[in-house]
Amino acid sequence: MIVQWILYNQCGTSCIDKNVDKVLYLNNDSSPVSPIGALHFHLLSRLYSYAIGYNFIIELANSWTDAQFHQVTNYKEFWIRYCLEHNISTIKVMESSEPFLQQFIIDIQQELAKKSIVVDIVPNNQFLISHDLFCKKYNKPPIMEYFYRRMRKKTGILMEGEIPCWGKRNYDKENRKFDSSFVDHEHCTFLPSEWRKKACNHYQAEVREYENRHGTLQQNYPTSRHESLSLLQYFVEHTIDRFGELEDAMYDTSDFVHHSLLSVSLNFWLLEPREVIDAIENAPTAINNKEWCIRQILGRREYMYHWYMFYKETIYEQNFFAHTKKIPDWFWWPQKTWVEMNCLNTVLKRVSRWGYSHHIERLMIVGNFSLLVWFHPQEVTKWFREQYVDAFERVVTPNVMGMSQFADGGNLATKPYVASANYVNKMSNYCAWCKYDPKQKYGPDACPLNYLYRNFINKHQEMLKKWRQRFIVNQLEKIDREAITKQSEDFIAKIW
Ligand SMILES: Cc1cc2nc3c(=O)[nH]c(=O)nc-3n(C[C@H](O)[C@H](O)[C@H](O)COP(=O)(O)OP(=O)(O)OC[C@H]3O[C@@H](n4cnc5c(N)ncnc54)[C@H](O)[C@@H]3O)c2cc1C
Ligand code: SF4
Repeated sequence: MIVQWILYNQCGTSCIDKNVDKVLYLNNDSSPVSPIGALHFHLLSRLYSYAIGYNFIIELANSWTDAQFHQVTNYKEFWIRYCLEHNISTIKVMESSEPFLQQFIIDIQQELAKKSIVVDIVPNNQFLISHDLFCKKYNKPPIMEYFYRRMRKKTGILMEGEIPCWGKRNYDKENRKFDSSFVDHEHCTFLPSEWRKKACNHYQAEVREYENRHGTLQQNYPTSRHESLSLLQYFVEHTIDRFGELEDAMYDTSDFVHHSLLSVSLNFWLLEPREVIDAIENAPTAINNKEWCIRQILGRREYMYHWYMFYKETIYEQNFFAHTKKIPDWFWWPQKTWVEMNCLNTVLKRVSRWGYSHHIERLMIVGNFSLLVWFHPQEVTKWFREQYVDAFERVVTPNVMGMSQFADGGNLATKPYVASANYVNKMSNYCAWCKYDPKQKYGPDACPLNYLYRNFINKHQEMLKKWRQRFIVNQLEKIDREAITKQSEDFIAKIW
């Protein structure tokens, strides 16, 4: 008998081999030990993973095959026992897009071979170009912009022959604005489903604890293909309209602004990238919205995966700035912090509440703060991996180690993403409600980002000159370096 093992991020029918006799989804709540240590996932991550896997199995069982959901504590032991009890000769499994999990599957394959059980690993089909093809094309990852242009040409998306539609490759001028009169809009909502209730029952005690902290648990992400299609439709009919313009804007009054919330559906494979891109390409909206969103999925999503696959053996050892600080407990429990920075507190609470914040909040609020106070890049990666519902190894690691923390010394990003209050004040309404003054560079009322940022520039000025950031270093000439260093070091010492 042949059985297929469905991994947690393969909950779509294109991952299924229709010739197998049975399909199994295994839910495991134990904390996996990864290259960055044992991972203790946010309740919401486990809840969505459970609900998505459970629903997928119900749908398969209702439509064509013997499909089962099992709660397990140890994959290897489960498979040995299950195969012997049910006379299974072959387990089919699609190669995981998560290298750590893939290695684990190979270990199981070797173990089961000793019992004459075959683990047949079939190639992964979850990216628009396979990693083998990527490696044939490039000796090493090109810069992201070139990769994206090539993908547009290869797929014909937003192209008229060899020429980009409407003649332009990007719409930066129309995008990345801040609208001070922005009022939050309706977001797509979901009715509580059977499988979600089942997941809540499974994690009952933690759901109660979550509700004590945040109030009623609401559903912001889809848990089935049906819900994902509704979200996609809602996005292309409503939310996308200001997607480009407000892509980088941040508001304490809006958790999602005009972002799509599609990452969970894409990452668990409830939706496939090509169908999402097609829906966006055909959306009744301006080209700057379409192009910016397609750039994220056709460009960034693909690129980050291939970049990570390329550097996966070495990336975790890298720590360009030699930062060593541990992340303090209040990062996980933001209600208990003494740090009264409105931007950081709002985003940490948002992540704790929803397992979500949008990309600029990840990069320029959490990532920026982490870099300026010298958190160890692996610690930061671990925090992101545990806290976000859409977090997977292949996407967290390049975005955090490479893009946000510059641990690889500029292999992925061309310069470190660091900023003072000037940026936050321009792109958000956080500063208006903060006890600190975004204009003061140092002193008791000054925004901590102002002296931390200048301290960072001061420390790394030689490197910044090399990255053609001399103009930033020149700003230092006018400031009191000693006072800034002292105030930064005092602030950093008090964080724990
Ligand atoms: C420090 C940091 C950590 C991140 N961690 C994750 C993560 O764990 N999982 C994750 O899916 N994304 C991650 N991202 C990328 C991005 O922030 C999220 O994909 C996005 O915020 C998800 O929300 P959305 O679906 O509303 O995205 P939208 O803003 O609506 O974008 C549409 C889609 O584009 C894709 N996308 C956009 N940016 C990226 C990117 N940088 N890399 C890969 N895909 C991208 C996603 O599939 C996303 O759903 C991270 C970015 C940063 C800077
Ligand atoms: S003043 Fe500084 S700490 Fe306060 S919200 Fe603005 S950037 Fe954040």
